Amino acid sequence: MISIWEQETFYRKRDIVIIGAGFSGLWAAISIKERSPEKSILIIERNAVPLGASTRNAGFACFGSLTEVIADAQKMGWEKTLDLVRMRFEGLQKIRKYFKSDEIDFELSGGYEILNSDESLQHINEVNAKLKSVTGLEETYSLQQDKINEFRLGKSQFLIENPCEGSLHSGKLLQKLLEKCHELKVEFLFGIEVKNIEETSDEVNICFSEGVSVKSDQLIHCTNAFSSKFLENENIIPARGQILLTEPIDNLKLKGTFHYDEGFYYFRNLENRVLLGGGRNQDFKTEETTAFETTEFLQNHLENFLKEVILPNQEFKIALRWSGIMAMGSEKTPIVKRLSERQLCTVRLSGMGVALAPKVGEMITIMI
Ligand SMILES: Cc1cc2nc3c(=O)[nH]c(=O)nc-3n(C[C@H](O)[C@H](O)[C@H](O)COP(=O)(O)OP(=O)(O)OC[C@H]3O[C@@H](n4cnc5c(N)ncnc54)[C@H](O)[C@@H]3O)c2cc1C
Repeated sequence: MISIWEQETFYRKRDIVIIGAGFSGLWAAISIKERSPEKSILIIERNAVPLGASTRNAGFACFGSLTEVIADAQKMGWEKTLDLVRMRFEGLQKIRKYFKSDEIDFELSGGYEILNSDESLQHINEVNAKLKSVTGLEETYSLQQDKINEFRLGKSQFLIENPCEGSLHSGKLLQKLLEKCHELKVEFLFGIEVKNIEETSDEVNICFSEGVSVKSDQLIHCTNAFSSKFLENENIIPARGQILLTEPIDNLKLKGTFHYDEGFYYFRNLENRVLLGGGRNQDFKTEETTAFETTEFLQNHLENFLKEVILPNQEFKIALRWSGIMAMGSEKTPIVKRLSERQLCTVRLSGMGVALAPKVGEMITIMI
């Protein structure tokens, strides 16, 4: 049981409670506070630091690759695809407006896609024409064959460049977002897991353990891949992403962010080390999990990819391996909606949450 002091302070009723302190939860809190500073907001996070996708990703300030845009347009049609690209484009601009580049190691280094067939190249003009309304560029994607040698990617047939993509330090971005939340007087409870939620016509009761709970007028779920317990009806599939990072490599020529095989592999230069992730398509079933583990099978596979595609004939040592959990679904669009009178959600940010979360935060603010 708790004391009167705790009940009237840490566990007192708030206007809005947010579950999850990843990019979605933090951007949502910032947007709401900027619009309605008088609203009290509490963010509840079950881990000591946010733990899901936001602290475990590759740090691509993602715009999206040519093949991804083509695949999205084929699946969802151009209208939804362009909406999603616009969200990412504006999301990245918002990150840059809020934080200086050196605070979050942001670099507009350009994004590249390696292609080993010319099939997608046939659509490049059509895609560029469509994307002009978002980026203002005649050529959002262009063929840059010279850079194959410059980056020593000799085994690649075609290289497409996209100047709108960059990279950043996800840990530093999260820390800056936390600072911003503190400035705006957003409150936090870390290390507490939400176990149960009861909604009545007057309030929502968010329960942690026997006799400990917080009430609020509105509740926002920002739990991404871990949402199934409370959002049973939503189409959310956990997807683990595994990553490895090499020790520094002499004379590493890569510069920018790189996509391969429709984005199933991604790599970048992180202070002269190669950060490589992906390969989920090699073992879909095993990777459909919320368990934070790496597997020997996929890590070996990534190492082989490193040897064959990124660093042929170069020595390297692996410094670090980790995994994080994304949320996928039958469609790529995030789920941003009201679930009931007093509950809303912003979840399923797929593999592009860095850029999507700032805009998703604005969308939920309008719905509150
Ligand atoms: C390996 C990997 C690489 C990626 N690379 C990129 C990339 O380069 N660029 C990009 O844009 N995106 C990338 N992504 C995707 C991006 O990281 C996510 O889309 C984004 O971080 C999602 O943020 P979120 O806040 O919605 O979810 P999360 O960061 O997962 O946050 C959810 C939070 O909710 C908390 N939580 C869950 N349940 C409860 C509960 N019951 N009680 C209390 N707290 C709870 C969790 O502890 C967690 O901290 C990658 C993801 C992975 C896994």
